[in-house]
Amino acid sequence: MAKTLLSVEGLAVEFDTRDGVARVIDDLSISLAEGETLGIVGESGCGKSMTALSIMGLVPIPPGRIAAGRIFLDDEDLLQASEARMREVRGNEISMIFQEPMTSLNPVYSIGNQIAETARLHEGLSRADAFQRALEMLVAVGIPAADKRIHEFPHQMSGGMRQRVMIAMALACQPRVLIADEPTTALDVTVQAQIFDLLNDLKDRTGTAIIMITHDMGAIAEMAQRVVVMYAGRVVEQADVDQILTDPRHPYTQGLIRCVPHLTQNPTKERPPLLEIPGVVPPLTQLGSGCPFAPRCQYADAQCRAEMPPTKAIDDGHTVACWLTEREAAA
Ligand code: SF4
Repeated sequence: MAKTLLSVEGLAVEFDTRDGVARVIDDLSISLAEGETLGIVGESGCGKSMTALSIMGLVPIPPGRIAAGRIFLDDEDLLQASEARMREVRGNEISMIFQEPMTSLNPVYSIGNQIAETARLHEGLSRADAFQRALEMLVAVGIPAADKRIHEFPHQMSGGMRQRVMIAMALACQPRVLIADEPTTALDVTVQAQIFDLLNDLKDRTGTAIIMITHDMGAIAEMAQRVVVMYAGRVVEQADVDQILTDPRHPYTQGLIRCVPHLTQNPTKERPPLLEIPGVVPPLTQLGSGCPFAPRCQYADAQCRAEMPPTKAIDDGHTVACWLTEREAAA
């Protein structure tokens, strides 16, 4: 079994807002093994990106605060690390790529300069070595004519090429963990498939473990070995990708899967209707004592509205937080 590289234990993150305290992450526990791709899936406002910012040590404090928990990289608790140490961790050991590369790339520097600067800052390479590293990374991420395009500026590239540049920059320091936050949302379907292939290929070649954050179960099916489903800051289901896709237990997970056309096609069964999950994620300042999904759940009853469902292990590595599962186990 692969060694655990990163683990988050009982993490809680809160923000002070004008409407009160919002607990944006509540009792989150996840782990990432060497060479693994872990998918974190859920709608906007479910706490996926805040999980990434917490791991990177980038939660804005104040108004945010880490209310509980620990985040281990190997045996080091990153929540106890100094800011200087976290600057080393970011880039050297954990890198992140964001949804929209135009907001993350500097428009006034060539892409070669930007990648080289990352390698110089984090690895102390000379200017010439850093530029060579930049070129190697552009080749690795499949930029055609990389020796010429290295001198181009972000606005001269397509969205797909810019996202490849972001991946090259994130990988320039050969991180052990890559966090990809909705890396293909702004791209068309063909380019999305190319980026997934690229990330899978780079993972196989470099051994970098990946946390893939997305609202799209289709992307999870393409990329992840294990899946964490988040809703309103909590983990509602966690399992291997095959278990999640073939035997989803939480009504929210079932809804996310029904939103993706090709995941609902099963030649042996009548194809279920393609549905949207009705409603929206509730404001995190207004959560009651019950299941946060109850206002949107067709199975919700009095117990769901009154009491938070406990997290139950139903199979090896498969956990669910839903009263239905709890009752099935007791029956
Ligand atoms: Fe639905 Fe109840 Fe399960 Fe929540 S606990 S997801 S409301 S059935």
